[in-house]
Amino acid sequence: MKIVRQQKLWQLTTFPLFFPINAYLIPEDDRLTLIDTGIGRSGKGIVEEIKKTGANLTHIILTHGHSDHVGGLKEILLAFPDAEVAISKREVKLFKQKDLFAFEAQQPVRGSFPKMGLPVRPDRLLKDGDMIGSLIVIETPGHTPGSISLYDERNGHLFVGDLLQTRGGLTICGVPNWRFPFPKMGSWDLETSIASVQKILSYQPTLLATGHGRLLDNPETALLDALDQARSMQKNR
Ligand SMILES: [Zn+2]
Repeated sequence: MKIVRQQKLWQLTTFPLFFPINAYLIPEDDRLTLIDTGIGRSGKGIVEEIKKTGANLTHIILTHGHSDHVGGLKEILLAFPDAEVAISKREVKLFKQKDLFAFEAQQPVRGSFPKMGLPVRPDRLLKDGDMIGSLIVIETPGHTPGSISLYDERNGHLFVGDLLQTRGGLTICGVPNWRFPFPKMGSWDLETSIASVQKILSYQPTLLATGHGRLLDNPETALLDALDQARSMQKNR
């Protein structure tokens, strides 16, 4: 597991060379929040890193329900059984059935969700504007109908799950990226994703942290470029 450690943000990456899958540890005073949990075999490495810090893990937030983001949850909960598990209210429904609401884009929900759902019932179902420590929940559907982003109000760090990828160059999910095509293959609706990227721009993030790929400082210009690319793709369809 590769660790990139910054103040108020540690990026923990499983398979950094070929299929990077990120989870993030966010320190809050004397405790930690984990964003996403990687795949099943990521769990052990994440637990080891948390134990090294000596701090307690009190919150686990899942940006969406795909197996490469929730797979490590079981292992992590064995080590930290009291950690509160949170996921969006919309996303949790997808473990049971993939039906869409009438107001949502009528596109198939893609990507791999664990067949048995989450190993525990989530303690908290999140919606826009909720807070967990310093993190504000922003509903950013598109990759999946219930995907969320998290904005750290202390420093402007923004954690977007798979709404965008930085592996292979910054790309909005749903836009093809031949250098790392997997997020596109698992994405639900591009138009919804474009609207969500416009929404996160209004937060003026200072750093973008994605589910797949490196951290991106001062992402505004790159986000605007990615939006242009996505819109021109929409037009040419
Ligand atoms: Zn995903």
